[in-house]
Amino acid sequence: MIQHYSLKIHNTFGLDVKAQWFSTFNSTEQLIRLLDSDVIKNNRMMILGGGSNILFTKDFDGVVLKNEIPGISNPEKDGEGFLVKVGAGVPWHTLVLKMVDNNLAGIENLSLIPGNAGAAPMQNIGAYGVELKDVFHRLEAIEIATGKSKTFYHQDCQFGYRESVFKGALKEKYIITSITLKLKPPGNFNTEYGAIREELEKMKIEEVTLKAVSDAVINIRRSKLPDPAVTGNAGSFFKNPSIPASQLDALKNNFPGIISYPGAEGKVKVAAGWLIEQCGWKGKSLGNAAVHSKQALVLVNQGNAAGQEILDLSLAVKNSVNEKFEIMLETEVNIYS
Ligand code: FAD
Ligand code: NAP
Repeated sequence: MIQHYSLKIHNTFGLDVKAQWFSTFNSTEQLIRLLDSDVIKNNRMMILGGGSNILFTKDFDGVVLKNEIPGISNPEKDGEGFLVKVGAGVPWHTLVLKMVDNNLAGIENLSLIPGNAGAAPMQNIGAYGVELKDVFHRLEAIEIATGKSKTFYHQDCQFGYRESVFKGALKEKYIITSITLKLKPPGNFNTEYGAIREELEKMKIEEVTLKAVSDAVINIRRSKLPDPAVTGNAGSFFKNPSIPASQLDALKNNFPGIISYPGAEGKVKVAAGWLIEQCGWKGKSLGNAAVHSKQALVLVNQGNAAGQEILDLSLAVKNSVNEKFEIMLETEVNIYS
């Protein structure tokens, strides 16, 4: 285990924080051995994937274990679909590209999401009308307290909008070591969300294919989102709030332009980026942290921000939105203080 190790290259905000102890693991057996060590038993511990959904506000005074379990299985026929088992350390986008190459459909709309496959169930990653839950079959995880392996099927994971049991009741209780997805031969493409269709037209695509949809999503994302390799960020910092329809109706009296979509459980989903923009935050900074100029949901490190500065900016944004709209935004990014 390495001591006083910089996590700068391991978090997409690019924050130069240190872990008191750091180790990688590339197999379940190695993970179980690590969990049995005194340093882990006696200290705080966190699992790191690609570091694209975390904010460290200071050095981490414990053990950081970075998941690097590899492997994508050959597709195995299961009814009308194919099961594919993926090591938790496989980069998500590598998996998407491989499935597109193999002509297996289901995750092409989730192209270019940073991070690793093992973190995908944590917040039930989603984009362009598709969520992990739509293709999820099962996952294997190790219980931290006992080192025992457990299989979680769909119903065990309690997937919701950017939620799962692993962010809720089982937070920090299990380490995901593999996920298994159920993918299908291409059929109906999901191109109605956001600007996909428009982008396909711009690309002069005559026959829609998995690759065309994936490329369209990649193009749109590259044009709107900051590349973490250039500008530190963790994607959407906040969730899109879900509010009762009656609250939306009342808000429409004062804010007729408010952007909303049908949400779960009869509620409506309001575009948080729009709320933040209306408060005048788009492109604005506070210290070395800023609200991205093309998408107000994304907070960025302007170069030398400390994690606390990004957290302070997020709190200022939340206060503004709450004062103007009486909606308290919920943070999507996982904060380590
Ligand atoms: P990390 O940031 O390393 O970890 C996130 C949390 O999960 C931490 O609490 C960590 O302890 C825990 N964790 C990680 N791996 C495991 C494991 N194997 N077992 C148990 N716990 C684990 N998200 C979306 O949903 N949709 C998007 O479209 C999207 N776009 C993004 C765009 C950009 C530019 C960026 C920077 C981020 C975006 N995100 C998006 C957020 C992020 O990429 C995803 O949430 C991703 O799944 C995080 O993966 P990670 O490996 O980086 O997780
Ligand atoms: P966008 O297309 O400008 O849309 C703004 C918001 O409106 C999105 O957040 C989306 O909610 C919602 N929306 C748009 N069209 C919708 C429709 N037809 N039906 C229901 N809801 C709709 O958003 P964007 O910022 O460019 O992002 C595009 C996609 O990538 C979105 O799905 C977004 O969630 C995802 N993304 C996620 C992250 C992250 O870190 N979580 C970062 C970047 C992009 P939803 O968010 O519920 O889809």
